Amino acid sequence: MKTAVIGYPRIGLLRELKFATENYFKGESSEEALQATAKLLRETHWQIQHQAQVDFISSNDFSFYDQMLDTAILFNAIPHRYRTLDLSPLAAYFAMARGYQGEKGDVKALAMKKWFNTNYHYLVPELDNQTELKLTGTKLFDEYQQAKALNIETKPVVIGPFTFLKLARYSGNRQSKDFVSAMINAYRSLLEQLNQLSVTWVQIDEPALVLDLTLSDLALFTQLYDGILKHKGQTKVLLQTYFGDIRDAYERVNQLPFDGVGLDFVEGEYSLKLIEKYGFAQDKVLFAGVVNGKNIWKNNYQHTLERLKSIASKANNVVINTSCSLLHVPYTLNNETKLTDTQKRYFAFAQEKLTELNQLKTLIAEKDYTHHAMYTANQELFTQSRYTENTQVNERVAKLVDDDFIRHPEFTQREQIQKQAFNLPLLPTTTIGSFPQTAEIRTYRAKFKQGTISAIDYRHFIEKQIADCIALQEQIGLDVLVHGEFERNDMVEFFGEALEGFIFTEKAWVQSYGTRCVKPPIIWGDVARKGPITVDYTVYAQKLTDKPVKGMLTGPVTILNWSFPREDISLRNSALQIALAIREEVLDLEAAGIRVIQVDEAALKEKLPLRRQEWHISYLDWAIPAFRLVHSGVKSDTQIHTHMCYSEFEDILSDIDNMDADVISFEASRSNLSIIKVLKAQQFKTEVGPGVYDIHSPRIPTVAEISQTIEQMLFEVDKTKLWINPDCGLKTRGEKETVASLKNIVAATQQIRNKLITLPK
Ligand code: GLN
Ligand code: ZN
Repeated sequence: MKTAVIGYPRIGLLRELKFATENYFKGESSEEALQATAKLLRETHWQIQHQAQVDFISSNDFSFYDQMLDTAILFNAIPHRYRTLDLSPLAAYFAMARGYQGEKGDVKALAMKKWFNTNYHYLVPELDNQTELKLTGTKLFDEYQQAKALNIETKPVVIGPFTFLKLARYSGNRQSKDFVSAMINAYRSLLEQLNQLSVTWVQIDEPALVLDLTLSDLALFTQLYDGILKHKGQTKVLLQTYFGDIRDAYERVNQLPFDGVGLDFVEGEYSLKLIEKYGFAQDKVLFAGVVNGKNIWKNNYQHTLERLKSIASKANNVVINTSCSLLHVPYTLNNETKLTDTQKRYFAFAQEKLTELNQLKTLIAEKDYTHHAMYTANQELFTQSRYTENTQVNERVAKLVDDDFIRHPEFTQREQIQKQAFNLPLLPTTTIGSFPQTAEIRTYRAKFKQGTISAIDYRHFIEKQIADCIALQEQIGLDVLVHGEFERNDMVEFFGEALEGFIFTEKAWVQSYGTRCVKPPIIWGDVARKGPITVDYTVYAQKLTDKPVKGMLTGPVTILNWSFPREDISLRNSALQIALAIREEVLDLEAAGIRVIQVDEAALKEKLPLRRQEWHISYLDWAIPAFRLVHSGVKSDTQIHTHMCYSEFEDILSDIDNMDADVISFEASRSNLSIIKVLKAQQFKTEVGPGVYDIHSPRIPTVAEISQTIEQMLFEVDKTKLWINPDCGLKTRGEKETVASLKNIVAATQQIRNKLITLPK
């Protein structure tokens, strides 16, 4: 069996591309310098894969920003507003990615969305009435030839027409079907050119095939590929899918004249069943995704080799592949100096996964691999215990009963009790938690981490920030205050560091979007709280004011979703362990006199399974209870808030209501308040704070704008259930614009309150 890689990370081992690009943005370096860094990175990544003896290496998996954007440009889908700017091609590319504000004009960026069920974000292509789809770009061919110059034959990668049309935004009155024939011609031209260059294989990515597909989706898919594959030529076409199985499209895919089909056997629950049930066309190559491209644990060779054998019993020609692009894992363990050698033995980042591919290739070729040293060494990892089990935590999880997930008394009774206990004005104002983090604060925190500032000095410094923040909020006139989160770098890392069971890397960055990277913690063992985490600073803040200060915690589902999860226990059990730890923190805050506690579930929506059928069974059925477990033990007059970042949760509104929080805040200003209408229609019980302005932009909303927004909200939401707040934390914002915006919020709220009081009922 040969080996293949769907795609390699591109940001650079030390995030070289990030820094080169940001320097270019700042005008501190030239386009040539950026191009040179990019070229070097591509060459390095090909060489690494070549040396690791990967048989099918990808090209055009590099991107300056995003591969969907690259595909839009390849096929001329450049909206008019960017064409008229008169910028260099690279500058126009970045204008589409980030917007442009300068002497040549003022245009917004393309929309950005989450890439399937990952934490990566792509740019949404815009197709309008003027769009003329055709092959105009050259990046794909240039990069293929660049690798060829190194004597490396690669398979160029491109996003397929079906996924492209499914994910595009139609801003005019044409729909996907109106672009079919242009799309067919564009991909035909692409194949023709690849033929002329004597390219052996091309990889066409169609991850949209793993979604729930309707009959018209399937018709669109068939129509596209019937047309594209008609006069195919010599270059072989690999249809690559990932992030799940293609149960709806499998039979069609099998019938179409693809030369290779890539299936995901890691996340694709039904992939094996599909080839067993329907067979696999004998003239095709099956690229079997068996090395996980999303998680960082070593592959279990026993399972994988058995799986490969089952696959090979159905397909003539099998290639050992990654399950998706390695873009979603960090580069290499070689850079980690703080992980222990024992820990490192259990992990495989991108580069180590190349070794796994090669070892699997060697082992599967053996008659009896079970005595091979590579095999036995791998099996040791799965037969010996990796960490010391926390039996107490596991017993607590095992003993949970239904009532542990239910808060008493039920919502409506609590709501009345709390109205009396807090006696807040109508339309209470609050913020989501964090206040601007100045360079000074970040430097102080970094110095404290390095050990150049003592714990006492650091504590005094943070307390000073908190005191200023409380004074500021009182001066602005907010009703429910926060301590400001100055001691926190990141809402998950902060809690991970304080909990037993997490480990941290130094250089293990993963691209989130453009030049932004995240460094997710790894859940290594059973999670437990070592001691109070937030109580001191919260109590300190509460002592400074008579107004309620919200305790601020990150919820179990978000902590889990933004970490690399364990593979040896279920996500459910991991979530419940974390929930028990956060529950202890909630109860400690309450005992210390904190009466409002917010448990953020910013990332709850993020890992909703791609197929509707699995929403509940594989996710919501444990995620919502995990959240409930966190707060079910509090008294009726302790008010529980939660916050979610993505407001696109219309479809799971009843599940959100079922979290049984007293108040939920979420982003709404950019989504045109559409969610608010649905809240009413579905009789949402939880009190709501739909963000009244967008904190992702430095723009200061006017009092008039905010009052208008609040008035619109009041059409749909009962005035006794509405809270007024920004749509997310203020951490990344400047101080000046924050103060101005919050003052305007309070002024607008006051105006509306006055109206509500004078208005007859
Ligand atoms: N409480 C967090 C903050 O304000 C919430 C951040 C988030 O939703 N991403 O920063
Ligand atoms: Zn948020």
